[in-house]
Amino acid sequence: MQADGEFDLIARYFKRPSPGRMLGVGDDCALMPLSAGCELAVSTDMLVEGRHFLPDADPESLGHKALAVNLSDLAAMGARPLACTLALSLPVVNHAWLEAFSAGFHALARESQCPLVGGDTTRSESGVVLSITVLGEVRRTHALRRDAARVGDDVWVSGTLGAADLALRLVLGRLPPDPERLRATRPALDRPTPRLKLGRYLAGVAHAAIDVSDGLLQDFGHILKASHCGADLWLDVLPAHPALAGLDESLRREILLAGGDAYELCFTARPLWREQIEVLGRQLGVPVARVGTLVRGQDLRVLDGAGQVVPVAYRGFDHFSEPCGDIA
Ligand code: ADP
Ligand code: MG
Repeated sequence: MQADGEFDLIARYFKRPSPGRMLGVGDDCALMPLSAGCELAVSTDMLVEGRHFLPDADPESLGHKALAVNLSDLAAMGARPLACTLALSLPVVNHAWLEAFSAGFHALARESQCPLVGGDTTRSESGVVLSITVLGEVRRTHALRRDAARVGDDVWVSGTLGAADLALRLVLGRLPPDPERLRATRPALDRPTPRLKLGRYLAGVAHAAIDVSDGLLQDFGHILKASHCGADLWLDVLPAHPALAGLDESLRREILLAGGDAYELCFTARPLWREQIEVLGRQLGVPVARVGTLVRGQDLRVLDGAGQVVPVAYRGFDHFSEPCGDIA
């Protein structure tokens, strides 16, 4: 971008003082020290207008969410945030939009101690495109890898499931208007909370973890595949958001098992740790529900309260195989 452009925008909206031990925005690279005995955890996520957010999305919430979904990946690895970068393509320079977007972004960056230390700013022909990279650190051998689950582990889920997916269906008019349910679920869609503290405390306790972004069955399925395990999940104890109560049962199940955008952690741990995990959840104020067990084989079974297998035809969201699962 030229003149009024790039450098003024960066200085005004994105350059912020970085912690003393870091070199932030303004040089060819950012620099940051790593703690002894730690590995670097790196993750990138893109958000494309029309694909991941609606053109009229509230920019302040978008700034929050864009960073939150990336921090959620650090949480799912058990990593502590160090810093982030932001690559931004804009069709036009809209100062009110940039002001609100950067405010939402920096607020969560501050709260998460994940300063913005670099990026890139360009013009785009069509909509807004955002690409954020988060950098974190995790003690060597403590990372919550997807391939680290073991037969016999308990399966856990943090928080509640379904609110963001229900909100999205209501926003898109895929369900009849329901202002009360929308009010109860919209914050989960617009401003997800990355479970950073929970993830960090689970590092060294839990075996494997993933954040639920594309639906529980699909995301948990990644752990099973990587770890060569099967699992039984108990439908009746899955932590459904209260706003799901009273929905048609098959819709409720689908939202619970396959609804996206939850950004809760699904993790596995030895039964030995049950009590500690429950205490941890209470201390952090994050509900944790024990929802299943890992078994030999490769099947993921969902069981009802009577122990009967519940047939499930859906898996979750896939950007390429399910174009109509898109928001655009
Ligand atoms: P370079 O030419 O080395 O790529 P740029 O002119 O693109 O540098 O960027 C100048 C500085 O501003 C760099 O430190 C870069 O990391 C930072 N920067 C550019 N865009 C952003 C942004 N959207 N958010 C944060 N930092 C940015
Ligand atoms: Mg550049």
